[in-house]
Amino acid sequence: MIELKKEVIKYAQKLNSTNLSPLRSGNVSIRATKDNVEGFLLTPSGKRYEDLVPEDIVFLALKEEYNNLKLFNSSLNPSSEWRFHQDIYLKKIEAKAIVHAHSPHATAVSAHGKPIPAFHYMIALAGGDDIKCAEYATFGTTELSKNILKALEKRKACLMSNHGQVAFGTNLKQAFELAEEVENICYQYIIALKIGDPKILSSAEMNKILDKIKHYKKA
Ligand code: 13P
Ligand code: ZN
Repeated sequence: MIELKKEVIKYAQKLNSTNLSPLRSGNVSIRATKDNVEGFLLTPSGKRYEDLVPEDIVFLALKEEYNNLKLFNSSLNPSSEWRFHQDIYLKKIEAKAIVHAHSPHATAVSAHGKPIPAFHYMIALAGGDDIKCAEYATFGTTELSKNILKALEKRKACLMSNHGQVAFGTNLKQAFELAEEVENICYQYIIALKIGDPKILSSAEMNKILDKIKHYKKA
C-alpha cells in the first residue's frame, strides 16, 4: 500500500513539474484493495502536491456505503472530485488509474464546450474519432461525474467544460501520458484554429487509424 501511495504522490508532483496542473489543481488516483475491500487511492483535497506525504493519500472504497462508514467519520480529506474517480472505476473495468488536470490548453479549449474533431490522427489515442467535452457542472458534484461518464463513452479521456480534462489508463504512467497527449493536441488545435478552419480527417481514415494505433504503443 505504501508503494502505491508513493506512486500517487510521484504523479501528483509530476502534474506540477510538467506544468500539466499547477499547485493543488487536478487530482490523481489508482485502484487498490484494503482489507479485502476494493477501492482506490486518491490525492487529498486542497494540499500542495510538493508537500504530500504517504499518510495524506486517502483510500476510498468503490461502494459508497463503506466510505460513509469508514471514511467520512474520520479526519481524512479526499479530493473533492472523489465522486467521478469512483464512478469511472465502477463503470470502466479497464481503468486502473486516473489523472485529472487543469492543463492550460485543454482548459482553454474546454471553455468552448465543444468536442475536438479529428484535425489530427492522434485524437485516436483517446479512443475514438473525436475527444468529447463533458457538459459543465460545479466541481465535486454528482452532476459533473454523470457528465464526465457520458463524455467518456467509448473514450479514455475527455475535456470538462470550463474546467480541464480527465484521462484514465491501465496504470498511472499510461493515464498521465494520455493527459499529456490531450494537452498537446489542444495546443495544436488552438494554433490550427488561428489560421482558419482546419481540415478534418474522414471517418473512414479515422477508423483505419483507430485500428492501426492499437498496435502502435507497447510500453
Ligand atoms: P482537490 O484539491 O479537492 O482535488 O480539487 C482540485 C480540483 O481540480 C477540483 O476539480
Ligand atoms: Zn479540477
